[in-house]
Amino acid sequence: MQNACSHISAVTEVKQPRRRECQECVKIGSDWVHLRTCQSCGAILCCDSSPDRHASKHARSSKHPVAASAEPGERWLYCFVDDALAEY
Ligand SMILES: [Zn+2]
Ligand SMILES: [Zn+2]
Ligand SMILES: [Zn+2]
Repeated sequence: MQNACSHISAVTEVKQPRRRECQECVKIGSDWVHLRTCQSCGAILCCDSSPDRHASKHARSSKHPVAASAEPGERWLYCFVDDALAEY
């Protein structure tokens, strides 16, 4: 990935979501707005517009810096550490 930080550059193959649901929201019966796929472990989690912001919580607690959009038709990666965005 060009024009991005070292974390995004390290992503060679973008992990795609296996499901279309936030795995943490499902546990607690919460709702989400958009979904992200963690590029370190493949977790599918909700975005910062969602009430519980599971993707950014996961990035901080697990130190997994990069998430991809899991929304159909969107092709971008985001690094939580550097606040960097890159299309692919
Ligand atoms: Zn980064
Ligand atoms: Zn969630
Ligand atoms: Zn992860």
